[in-house]
Amino acid sequence: MGVSDMNLQGVLDDIVAELSPRLGEGRVATYIPALARVEATHFGIALRTREGAEFRAGEAGRAFSIQSVSKVFSLALAMRIHGQDLWAGIGREPSGNPFNSLVQLETEQGVPRNPFINAGAIFVADRLVSSCAHPREALREFVSTLCGEEIHFDEEVAASEAATGFRNIALANFMKSFGRLENPVEPVLDLYFHQCSLAMSCAQLAHGMGFLCADGVNPHDGRQVVSHRQARRINALMLTCGTYDAAGEFAFRIGLPCKSGVGGGIVATVPDRLSLCVWSPGLDETGNSALGMAALESFVSRTGLSVF
Ligand code: GLN
Repeated sequence: MGVSDMNLQGVLDDIVAELSPRLGEGRVATYIPALARVEATHFGIALRTREGAEFRAGEAGRAFSIQSVSKVFSLALAMRIHGQDLWAGIGREPSGNPFNSLVQLETEQGVPRNPFINAGAIFVADRLVSSCAHPREALREFVSTLCGEEIHFDEEVAASEAATGFRNIALANFMKSFGRLENPVEPVLDLYFHQCSLAMSCAQLAHGMGFLCADGVNPHDGRQVVSHRQARRINALMLTCGTYDAAGEFAFRIGLPCKSGVGGGIVATVPDRLSLCVWSPGLDETGNSALGMAALESFVSRTGLSVF
């Protein structure tokens, strides 16, 4: 069955109804006040088909802190600018470790395993600092263009990230000590902390990730964002590395390229068909949204839309 023949609004409504008794499951991130005060009971889900049909349920229009979901945007921008050269300094293997782990960097001489762990995203931020005169604005404008509307940083979140980002500061310094960063750590971390602070809704994220299910073309303006091959590769990295040490479990239960963030958002793509985003701030022990994962599993079993 093609997606246009499916009752996708009914599917999203059914998922909200199915999960409503479980609202509040998991634990919200507490490392900064702006995340700690978010109620665990929020839930939103939105999707956008490749043809442009949009469906929403729950709090799909409410903005939240996208956190590590931003790593997809920064990677896409860096791949667009640097092409194949980007891969000279970063791997493409799952880490099997928590997103902020330092241990592999020591044995692997400061080369991050992949662009979706924090070390990898800091490496990507470094390359964006090298190539953009105003890296923060360049990233914000890139995301806004993908969404077809202005997207903003939450400066309170960005400031808290900087004030409490001891591990990220350590990761950046560690990579710098191996000569892996081209720039001083301060501007690199400034970009990383700001990208984490982007505030977006499920509907905006489903829209902004549309290029990943459309051969790299921005559905909003029809322009090529990244090449078809690059879009395929970003999807591959999301499947294998997008949910950190839970990537195997996500592939097993859901089988879609996914990228999560500690704000409770998860974006997923059904290649060639649709992009979707679910938000529920309660996290499991791997830092992924507990109900977000349940919602995606329910979506796949209700629609049969999975890579596998
Ligand atoms: N700001 C968080 C950090 O750097 C983002 C991590 C995440 O969302 N997984 O630790």
